[in-house]
Amino acid sequence: MDKPNLKDMSLPEIEAFIASLGKEKYRAKQIVKWLYQHGATTFGEMTTLARDFRAKLSGIARISQPEIVNIQTSRDSTKKILFKLEDGLFIESVLIPGKNHWTLCVSTQAGCRMACSFCLTGKHGFRRNLLPSEITGQVTMARFNTPEGKDIKNIVMMGMGEPMDNYENTLKALGIITTELGPVFSPRRITISTCGLAPIIPRLGKDICVNLAVSLNAPDNETRSLLMPVNRKHPLEELLRVCRDYPMPRRRKLTFEYILMEGVNDSTDDAERLSRLLRGIRCKLNLIPLNEFPGSPFKTPSEEDVNAFREILIKHHYTAIIRTSKGSDILAACGQLAAV
Ligand code: SAH
Repeated sequence: MDKPNLKDMSLPEIEAFIASLGKEKYRAKQIVKWLYQHGATTFGEMTTLARDFRAKLSGIARISQPEIVNIQTSRDSTKKILFKLEDGLFIESVLIPGKNHWTLCVSTQAGCRMACSFCLTGKHGFRRNLLPSEITGQVTMARFNTPEGKDIKNIVMMGMGEPMDNYENTLKALGIITTELGPVFSPRRITISTCGLAPIIPRLGKDICVNLAVSLNAPDNETRSLLMPVNRKHPLEELLRVCRDYPMPRRRKLTFEYILMEGVNDSTDDAERLSRLLRGIRCKLNLIPLNEFPGSPFKTPSEEDVNAFREILIKHHYTAIIRTSKGSDILAACGQLAAV
């Protein structure tokens, strides 16, 4: 366990490590290729390195990432992957089918500290932050060890946890995914979803410009604070200010996610207030009818109410789509991941 894990290192860090062993710098690039483009899990596989160098490396370093322990398939063919971490904790990723490709939804924490009242992950509390190897490992394991893996084209950081609450490790993982995995995952193929840790959002915009999705869920501070404790610290005014300034990739729009809950935030009046609130922000809205879970305190609205809500946003010239729930029969839908 105390040997350093190469999968927690960026390329410059691996270069420095290799240099400290008196080896050529380009060896680091070879290693990184084996790790991320061939999915190597042992030094033995790295046949472009001399045998004695491979033996030396396995004596002083390790290659470690989460292990797939179960895959469940939903009626709509969504797949939920259960991973076991080195310390025995479990996390989940979800493979979501699209027309010609798959999207992988990855976790950034084991559990979550944010305690949103509608989310099952939050109900189970927080265990710990995931390491870079545990975030990128969900991608590499899914890519090289599932039949759909080679068709994963998009990554969404919308699984368990709050990415902005594990910012350093998430950023490092993003750096690795967008460079070392080859040309597949440009930042425009990656979306980070946040509950609204406002001070971190400008940092993300500076560090790496991926698509940003913000879980809004209410048109006013009073309702939002009831649903999402984070709003008490970073209210809507502060959140929307940093959203306005976020440098979205060109021709992309910021996404606001809005979970519709019966009698809580789904009235036509709420839709009117939401339209006013977001005026002037280049954005689209993802409306998510609540996914209930056992013991969930809120209810999913009727289809008519969901459509009526959307119509008002459309009337005000917003792009608003209803995100149909995928994988809910296996608790793989938004807010249903728990891994317990
Ligand atoms: N912490 C991040 C990412 C994880 S949640 C965030 O808050 O954005 C990913 C998405 O699932 C968020 O948009 C969240 O609002 C939504 N979600 C959580 N619980 C849900 C539920 N029970 N039904 C539908 N969507 C839910």
